[in-house]
Amino acid sequence: MSGKSDRDQQPATRLANTGRDRDLTGPFINPPVIRASTVLFDSAADLAADNQRYTYGRAGTPTTEALATAISELHGAAGTVACPSGLSACTTALLATLSAGDEVLMVDSVYYPTRRAAEKLFRRFGVTTRYVDPGIGAEIADLVTPATRAIYLESPGSYTLDMQDLPAIAGVAKARDLIVLCDNTWATPLGCRPLDLGADIVVEAATKYIAGHSDASIGTVSANSDLWPRLRDTHRQMGLYVGPDDVFLTLRGLRTLGVRLDRHASSGLEVARWLQRRSEIERVLYPPLPDDPGHALWKRDMTGAAGLLGFRLRDRSVEAAQRFIDALRLFGIGWSWGGYESLVAYAEPARYRALPTEEGPIVRLSIGLEDPGDLIADLDQAFAGLSSDG
Ligand SMILES: *Cc1c(COP(=O)(O)O)cnc(C)c1O
Repeated sequence: MSGKSDRDQQPATRLANTGRDRDLTGPFINPPVIRASTVLFDSAADLAADNQRYTYGRAGTPTTEALATAISELHGAAGTVACPSGLSACTTALLATLSAGDEVLMVDSVYYPTRRAAEKLFRRFGVTTRYVDPGIGAEIADLVTPATRAIYLESPGSYTLDMQDLPAIAGVAKARDLIVLCDNTWATPLGCRPLDLGADIVVEAATKYIAGHSDASIGTVSANSDLWPRLRDTHRQMGLYVGPDDVFLTLRGLRTLGVRLDRHASSGLEVARWLQRRSEIERVLYPPLPDDPGHALWKRDMTGAAGLLGFRLRDRSVEAAQRFIDALRLFGIGWSWGGYESLVAYAEPARYRALPTEEGPIVRLSIGLEDPGDLIADLDQAFAGLSSDG
């Protein structure tokens, strides 16, 4: 926050200035990478006092404060905690919210490991999970029971990229005193501010676009003023801590998030439009496409896009998806996304979803910062192989 930290500033300006408190950085532009477990006090009285800014490495350092401040400002949050992975940010958000006997309504297109945590870990502590249609809006009101405590969204959702009507869902939640959590990893704080749309807690797998270079595992959870004390206390009680190098890499990535996302989004749209014209493809899943079912919500609620998209081949066999993926040369085969390099993976949501969904694999592309023409040429040659061998 050097100089003006005005909420009216454009995102590009905020990205350059946020989290740069001179109290934290001194005369330097970036915060130091502070490796600390122990913090020394000036006196025994200070050790016992509860007004000390720094008390223990795990409780916060100038390095972690810089990142938390930056993400809070970008999201308009009361506070932010950093977690050692995106998944631990998802589970921390749920832990801060749920108690034994509670039920969470979770979008059925949720990131698979979040779903696994709900079903295996949270169930052991007496929390039940009920899945809701990924395209849900205000109709979620019909599913609320006396046990319902929270609604967990991920918009757009993993693999199928379904948009949820967050303002409508938040309206239902507010009237019933339910907490709304949203995994905002696809949009990032630059593309969507869920707290402004009525969510109470927002999760970012910063591993993806925010760190942006496939070299750090980290997540953030931000909360509005009602939920912040519970989130902060849960994080502290769990003893979660992110090493300073990963925090630094994330802050470094954050500074260029705007220019990277612009390129991911423009290349993503170019590739998506090209894919739509391919006869081998049944449907491209990407909310920025005008004929995507989530397009109207995307346009209304988000101010930007990402480079992550999916598609279904007309040949719905796993074998065809695998053959296509294996033929690609510029796309690395791997989980994760949001880095500078293009990646491909596939999943079969029908195998694990609770509600009926279309069978067959979805091929997912994370469009990186390479030249989009080169990526399209690579996709083109992989399609050529598909038809000639098939
Ligand atoms: C990858 C991902 C996560 C988890 O992030 P990790 O850093 O890999 O643990 C959470 N949510 C979504 C939507 C993701 O894509």
